[in-house]
Amino acid sequence: MAAVSTFKLNLRGSPVGPRAYACPDHGDFELDVDLATSAEPRPCPDCGQPSDRTLAAPLYKPQRGTLVRGKVEPPRRPTDFNTEGLADGKPLHELLDDRAAMWRDHDRARDKRKGLA
Ligand SMILES: [Zn+2]
Repeated sequence: MAAVSTFKLNLRGSPVGPRAYACPDHGDFELDVDLATSAEPRPCPDCGQPSDRTLAAPLYKPQRGTLVRGKVEPPRRPTDFNTEGLADGKPLHELLDDRAAMWRDHDRARDKRKGLA
């Protein structure tokens, strides 16, 4: 009888990556885990309790304090694109409507100067 060998070929290895888990007592922690089994609970490093994976990985949380509102400089010409209104919550379509109106007035004034209107 011929010997039968079985092979499990895994050329690239299991992908490993950081995932976040939450201990009911100690809160969030992060582990480098085999991504194929990352959905399974992991023991908390402090108490060993099985801890469920959380979707809000600390790794992906935006860092606090990185959003800095820039200095506002007045546009040099009225036709310069000024996005200051967007920063104050104005919807984009309103900004674009205002710009279209600004250009209409701008062109009308230019035509008037040239005696065309
Ligand atoms: Zn714990």
